[in-house]
Amino acid sequence: MSDIQRKCLDCGGPMSEIRIIDKQGAMPEEAGLEYSATDAERGFWSGAYPKAGKISTYLCQNCGAVRLFGKKA
Ligand SMILES: [Zn+2]
Repeated sequence: MSDIQRKCLDCGGPMSEIRIIDKQGAMPEEAGLEYSATDAERGFWSGAYPKAGKISTYLCQNCGAVRLFGKKA
């Protein structure tokens, strides 16, 4: 996953994948971000939004800029 080489749009520095850790103490394997369409409705039975994909987070090693990339499931 982290083998994709991304460059910072602001300074051209190397970006490496990071994991955002929220303050709710989620288990590491559950801490990844996911997304759904804005018009998606919660599942009647599950109460959860249908996942459209995952979010990868990259941090610039030079200036600290953070970018999010969506990857369709
Ligand atoms: Zn940068």
